[in-house]
Amino acid sequence: MTDIRRVTVLGTGVLGAQIAFQTAHSGFEVTAYDIDDAALERGRATFAELVATYEREVDGAADGRASAALDRLTLTADLAAAASGADLIIEAIPEILELKRETFGKLNSLAPEATIFATNSSSLLPSAIADATGRPDRFLALHFANRIWTSNTAEVMGTPETSPAVFDTVVEFAGEIDMVPIPIHKEKAGYVLNSLLIPFLNAGVELAADGYATPQDVDKVWRIGTGSPMGPFQILDIIGLNTPYNIMSAGDERNRGFAAWIKENYLDQGRSGLAAGKGFYDYE
Ligand code: NAD
Repeated sequence: MTDIRRVTVLGTGVLGAQIAFQTAHSGFEVTAYDIDDAALERGRATFAELVATYEREVDGAADGRASAALDRLTLTADLAAAASGADLIIEAIPEILELKRETFGKLNSLAPEATIFATNSSSLLPSAIADATGRPDRFLALHFANRIWTSNTAEVMGTPETSPAVFDTVVEFAGEIDMVPIPIHKEKAGYVLNSLLIPFLNAGVELAADGYATPQDVDKVWRIGTGSPMGPFQILDIIGLNTPYNIMSAGDERNRGFAAWIKENYLDQGRSGLAAGKGFYDYE
């Protein structure tokens, strides 16, 4: 068992709320920090929705375990209070490098020296943030996937400066919150998951946008040919089409062409994915 007892999560958005809730659901005392009362109000609503989701989808959660998790969750907009008693701080704030660096810089003066800092960043390498934390030996990436209660991988990735003992503690902690820990032995943009997923999704879009096969048939081939439950367009609908659109729009000319195809045929028709009720597919 690790020495980690009290965990603070920064950001109560999509991933931050899930990380905080999953950690509380696993028995830890959790402080969830966000910037102001309005953000905390949204966070509180998300936690209430997560109780219902866990009760539906997680074994044992309906026996009072999910609602008990709420009692272990404290919400605050006071960064000093959030940092002061934490053994581990997991950052899940917007994907903006300067914002993350500035936030870890502030935390360094507010948190005890022993506190471990982790970032959930999807696309930034931890070495781009490490020096700003003031404690690069106690800093690493701990990357969760959306829908943490079912897609329960936790990719752990340090920098060359991360202490091996800290790395091992965080791997063990990930197991303690019912994640499947995946140690990444060298820094890699995209970790394992996105290193595989993004080229796969792009290959699907390329086939459909270039007119070789419909999105539905691309998915069908993948499902039948590999036994996978979902093809690339089903996955894109779950992610939401705005994210791939934004990423592709920032790419080279060919990628910008794919972005235009998504915009013209789907986004402009209000088909932004599962959350909107329609994307490449129609949902109930
Ligand atoms: P989000 O926009 O849903 O939530 C961000 C939250 O951070 C909001 O509640 C916002 O109020 C808060 N915030 C803004 N400025 C802040 C500050 N200075 N200090 C503390 N909180 C602040 O974003 P998200 O999708 O949850 O992503 C958060 C992080 O998690 C990003 O680094 C992202 O790359 C990563 N991530 C996201 C996903 C995903 O599927 N959404 C998956 C894995 C990792």
